[in-house]
Amino acid sequence: MKHLSIRFKITLWFTAALILVVALSYFAVLSVSNRILHKTIQDTLIEAVENNVDEIEFFISASPSNDTDYYLPYGDDYLEIDDDFLDEVNDVYTSLYRSDGSFLYGENPISKYTPDLEFQDAGIQQLKVNGTLYYIYDRLLSGEALDGLWLRGIVSEEQGNAQMSAIARASLILLPAFVILSSTGGYLLAKKSLRPIQQISETASQIGKGGDLKKRIDLGSGSDELHALADTFNEMFERLDAAFEAERRFTSDASHELRTPMSAILAQCELSLEKTRSPEEYEDALRVIYRQGRRMSKLINDMLDFTRLELKADTYPKNRLNLSGLFSSICEDMSLIGERGITLTTELEPDILAVGNRDLLSRLLVNLISNAYRYGKDNGHIFVTLTRTQEQITLSVADDGIGIAPEDQEKIFRRFYQADPSRYGNGTGLGLSMAAEIAQFHGGNIRVESELQKGSRFIFTFHG
Ligand code: ADP
Repeated sequence: MKHLSIRFKITLWFTAALILVVALSYFAVLSVSNRILHKTIQDTLIEAVENNVDEIEFFISASPSNDTDYYLPYGDDYLEIDDDFLDEVNDVYTSLYRSDGSFLYGENPISKYTPDLEFQDAGIQQLKVNGTLYYIYDRLLSGEALDGLWLRGIVSEEQGNAQMSAIARASLILLPAFVILSSTGGYLLAKKSLRPIQQISETASQIGKGGDLKKRIDLGSGSDELHALADTFNEMFERLDAAFEAERRFTSDASHELRTPMSAILAQCELSLEKTRSPEEYEDALRVIYRQGRRMSKLINDMLDFTRLELKADTYPKNRLNLSGLFSSICEDMSLIGERGITLTTELEPDILAVGNRDLLSRLLVNLISNAYRYGKDNGHIFVTLTRTQEQITLSVADDGIGIAPEDQEKIFRRFYQADPSRYGNGTGLGLSMAAEIAQFHGGNIRVESELQKGSRFIFTFHG
């Protein structure tokens, strides 16, 4: 059963249910037809007997004027049996009896078996003779000299059997034909309805084998469940495609970024090994190698942090924390840097509580303050504020440094993007994209307001 196709299974269930319904209908039809037939036979019997009741009259003498009637000697006189008296009509046999039960006139197909059967006025009796059921209907006659005479009608159920077997035969041919027809129709319908699933599975397998995530499932227009499923798959391919594209870009950017310091290191090594150098030259070469090595190490660490955050966001649990306290201690530590005479001032609203990840939020602030130092002017200022409104918490890190050109303001949040890498070569271009990722992780966002040569303000908002 497990290896059967869905359309075959559906058809199988459907056919089984159909056979059950058809079989039940078959027996219901037979039973109802049987009941109706027997009722009809009984009605015919009653009608035939009742019609004959008026066809018997008492006569003092036989009337020769009417030779079509039958004159039956009865005592000293006659009984006139009208020529409308039908002793056999519609398989109903009618016969006339004296009050003592002796036969007078008519036909009785089971005369051998009925003498012991008591007469019952206007009642139907049943008698089984040689396996055949007979219905018997009696009428007590009344009127001049007729009192005590009995009219008995007899009909066999066999009359209906022929019709019943005709109905059964017709049902036995028609009903299976109906089952076969419906099952075939059901199978074709199931096949047609399930064709989109086949299409979905074929496209998914093509994508799986060929890795072409640009491919989409096209079922044409429609809005049924299968079209919804195809849309869901297409959306998933879209997202996978975007994720793979981002991954590809990241790998190529990363190798490109690593190649630069690596080339510098190799060049210094080659140069130093070419011939004997003075100790100063070796020292210079080592210094370059050390600087480039550190740059590579920083790049690798940043990249690792980045992918960890992107791929394993669940390893950074969110807790309730005192943001004011956390940011205050970071600012205090970083103000000690005091690089190039830059001073760091803070204005942090006290006791702002928020739900977030301590390490990531620290990382965000450190990145922003590091940038403010790096791109700040000598003896400049860094100003950090933290405020809370009903809706959101806002952290702002402002400097009065080199500023960012309007065309770069959006790009700086991209991975590895550096506005002026030749002048400020010790960065990796990952700090802001990481800050943006952290902001997103906390359901917030980060933006920049900046003017060249005047300074920049980075604003991080989230609901906390
Ligand atoms: P980087 O390691 O180069 O600093 P980031 O992602 O932190 O990488 O920043 C990307 C670029 O944005 C920087 O190279 C710099 O051009 C610009 N930038 C970032 N912060 C500032 C700032 N405070 N002032 C001016 N430019 C900035």
